[in-house]
Amino acid sequence: MKLTTTNFITTALLVLTIVNCKKTTVNQVDNWLQSETNNQIKILTTTAMVADLVQNIGGDLVAVKALMGSEIDPHSYQTKLGDAVYLQQADMIFYNGLHLEGKMESSLEQIQGKPVVAITSQLTEQELLKPQDEYNDHYDPHVWGDPTVWARCIEPVLETLISYDPQNKTVYQANANAYAKELSELKLWATKMIDTIPTQARYLITSHDAFFYLGRAYNIKVEGIQGISTMAEASLKHQVYLVNLIKKHQIKTIFPESSVNPKAIRNLAEKSGAQVSLETLFSDAMGEPADIANFNGITYDKGTYKGMHMHNIITITQGLSD
Ligand SMILES: [Zn+2]
Repeated sequence: MKLTTTNFITTALLVLTIVNCKKTTVNQVDNWLQSETNNQIKILTTTAMVADLVQNIGGDLVAVKALMGSEIDPHSYQTKLGDAVYLQQADMIFYNGLHLEGKMESSLEQIQGKPVVAITSQLTEQELLKPQDEYNDHYDPHVWGDPTVWARCIEPVLETLISYDPQNKTVYQANANAYAKELSELKLWATKMIDTIPTQARYLITSHDAFFYLGRAYNIKVEGIQGISTMAEASLKHQVYLVNLIKKHQIKTIFPESSVNPKAIRNLAEKSGAQVSLETLFSDAMGEPADIANFNGITYDKGTYKGMHMHNIITITQGLSD
């Protein structure tokens, strides 16, 4: 290991972390560290969606840990003291990029001596969306809203794994192909579900601007109360616009999000007469691991990307249909 400033700082933080958090985190840390004895590659990700993608491609050959659990907002996430041990011990790190991890991204980019890869790095301008906010010159980071775009994030992960562990190239390649097929089937299923909603009722109003990729994928008009980042304040002018839109199109249901405070969406419901969906949408975080749900005999796990997407599609379809 090269002794860089980053390494020195993370090593110092590691010592502090072990001293301070011995009781609460030591088991969790040990579980992940043990992966070394199983010859697994230790992978750290920012969001759980990225972890799910990497796990599907790496299979048994990797041990994956996400820094951000359910209900964590990645836009405002700040690296905690306890994260240093994971950042230091990981063999490689994957993150979303496109400024999703607003406060963390520049520190990730400074890490040296291991692959640190943004999974959105190969998306083209045609695949990416620009936010509606004219003052924002970044691309919209919420690419997982469309399984087709999400499947295009497989390639950077696959390339990184093959380059690190070329012996198992065929395994990674087979896993990646199988997962791409699963995502393509998910898109077909979701399209059929959304097609049952009358076109004129396809308005999706949520807490923040996280669903434009989903809207483009399934032909749904999308509005968020807050902007692309949950840190932007909702403006009064925008609220008046949304109240008018709901009344004009008789939009039945508006949707809270799992990682955003529901206050603004409840306020909009009161002013417009729309109902707030009882089920929240997963926008920037998935559900708890192994939170199994059932819909018409199909079971799915809200703690996986696939289950998260299914939950959102079912919730939107039920909320907007007659
Ligand atoms: Zn967001």
